[in-house]
Amino acid sequence: MRALPPLLAMLLLAACAQAPVRNPLATWVPSPNFNVRQPVIIVLHFTQQDSVQESLDTLRSENSAGKVSSHYLVGDDGRIYQLVSDLDRAWHAGGGRWGTITDLNSASIGIEIDNDGREPYTEPQIAAVIRLLQDLTTRFGIPGSQVIGHSDLAPTRKVDPGAHFPWQRLFEAGFGIWPQGELVDPPPGFDPWLAMARIGYAVDGGEDARAAAVRAFHQRFRGRDDGDDPVAVFEAEDLRILHALVRGASPQSSAD
Ligand SMILES: [Zn+2]
Repeated sequence: MRALPPLLAMLLLAACAQAPVRNPLATWVPSPNFNVRQPVIIVLHFTQQDSVQESLDTLRSENSAGKVSSHYLVGDDGRIYQLVSDLDRAWHAGGGRWGTITDLNSASIGIEIDNDGREPYTEPQIAAVIRLLQDLTTRFGIPGSQVIGHSDLAPTRKVDPGAHFPWQRLFEAGFGIWPQGELVDPPPGFDPWLAMARIGYAVDGGEDARAAAVRAFHQRFRGRDDGDDPVAVFEAEDLRILHALVRGASPQSSAD
């Protein structure tokens, strides 16, 4: 057989990689009744790198720390890059849990934001993230409350998007959660760990996991970084915030 011209061979290979998977063990009797992946949650990250170009390289290459990707990357000038289709599973979340979701990469859309972890986010960048969230939540019917940080789902491993991320601003635009109304002391018997679990944090993994969850909570709701040695202790203000967060929460839907 004559060898295929290199370009044609490449095109055929690419086509094969995209072809629908049909199991040779079975007879293919296609049904029209299916749909593509439906993401139900959105995860925000910081890149912890110095430039958008560096992150574009990391997210598209064999990375020394393992291959990673995200659906989107938002530059500090507000430019939005897309690297993976919304319908495909990008590799941004890794191991972790949020509520009952354990395979976060399958369930989510990942947005990396160009920020080194020490600097404030820029105005055009946050405006772009909000525009992107408006688009994604509308197109996929994702509730605005289902926007979380990487540190929320993997508090023992991750600290992004960090204490500088403006979660209150995001909430005012309709995304994430934030305590509403007057902050008051919770009633006697209030269990802060139950409240954390109700919000979505995994707090059943022992002392280290609980301490890490408290650090993630402080980053997100108090704009504060507890550093490398967090403790599993809530302050009075934490309890007031937790109480306000679960007081405002509607009962969990059985479909969750
Ligand atoms: Zn991350």
